[in-house]
Amino acid sequence: MITDDIRDFMRTDVRERFLRYVQIYTTSDEENPETPSTKRQFDLARILERELKDLGLNEVRCDDHAYVYGVLPATNGVKADTFGLLAHVDTSPDQPGENVKPRIIENWDGSPIEYPDDPDLTLSDADCPELKDFIGDNIITASGKTLLGADDKAGVAEIMAAMATFVKFPELKHGEIKVCFTPDEEIGRGTVEIDEDWLPKFCYTLDGGYPGELEGENFDAWRADVTFKGVGVHPGYAKNKMINACLVAANFVAALPEWQTPATTEKREGFFHVVGIEGDFENAKTVMIIRDFEVPKNKIRMEYLESLKDMFEKRYPGLEIDLKFTYQYQNMRDIIVETPEVMDLAHKAIEDAGIKVLRKSIRGGTDGARLTQLGHPTPNIFAGGLLFHSRREWVAESSLVKSVETVIHLAKHWSEA
Ligand SMILES: [Zn+2]
Repeated sequence: MITDDIRDFMRTDVRERFLRYVQIYTTSDEENPETPSTKRQFDLARILERELKDLGLNEVRCDDHAYVYGVLPATNGVKADTFGLLAHVDTSPDQPGENVKPRIIENWDGSPIEYPDDPDLTLSDADCPELKDFIGDNIITASGKTLLGADDKAGVAEIMAAMATFVKFPELKHGEIKVCFTPDEEIGRGTVEIDEDWLPKFCYTLDGGYPGELEGENFDAWRADVTFKGVGVHPGYAKNKMINACLVAANFVAALPEWQTPATTEKREGFFHVVGIEGDFENAKTVMIIRDFEVPKNKIRMEYLESLKDMFEKRYPGLEIDLKFTYQYQNMRDIIVETPEVMDLAHKAIEDAGIKVLRKSIRGGTDGARLTQLGHPTPNIFAGGLLFHSRREWVAESSLVKSVETVIHLAKHWSEA
């Protein structure tokens, strides 16, 4: 049903949009508590607002917080549940995002890719084994001084190109689709001002990596704040009296299982991560985060910290330890399993686009996870980019096209569900 004409249009459209959007400076800023955290995110948000209007979508608006909304009405005669598509306009503050100069290596021959603005930087399959799957493809990178911003302007361009394709080719059947572009995802605040009532029950983010990726689960996430109150005495007269809080804190952290850290775990394994430790001989404090895909395994980690607290208080009479747990976010899988069709329809759509589905687990949290918690199950679909948050970030042109195709098939399956 996707003819060569349609595919040619998608390719030209998504490529043009992507190359244009990445040149707009939209880095977010962790230090600013406002939404959006940087006013420059409006620069892209307002362009998207205008382009959605030009495409003829309904209810198009960019609000005061730089969220952009629009509704693509159903094709004539199609009655189907509405679903949502989301992508974020900001890029990571980890790398420079100003003056991004994208370039395309046409028909890449497999040799290491060099960067015009940084002779020391190269990209080869040693940096990214996935690269070798794209020999003969057109590879898009930045110039060496900045990130590319495929995270997540690939997702933005793909959603926009899908809308443009639906408008141009009315023979492609679909129900109502709502689109939403968000700010500040990279600093974990992409949903704080979102118009939740406007969102449909089911949504998808286009914010993943390798073509075929489909993610319906993320970490179950806790934070632990541990404070140590020691006993301070003049060091010359401290025998059998002083309890040095920062030494105790160091021992406490050393008693964590060293095979359960971010540096020693992967895939579906969980960990303790000591984010920081500070203090003096009277008072010390450590903050850690606890992560797993299974709630009972995190419970065991918290019980372990409770028992360490008891043991340390017995070992150092007079020491006081305060242990506080904060729930940060939930594994969306536990909610998504209740409506398996959301994942199944995306699974079929990816297969229809001619690629193998890669079901993955997100070792972190996403806007989709937060939306899922609010009652909008939101799995994540690949957007195509790799080596996110780095100056080597790249995307293959074919991946952009495959993602747009996936959205076209997704809409068809929703219209038939
Ligand atoms: Zn992203």
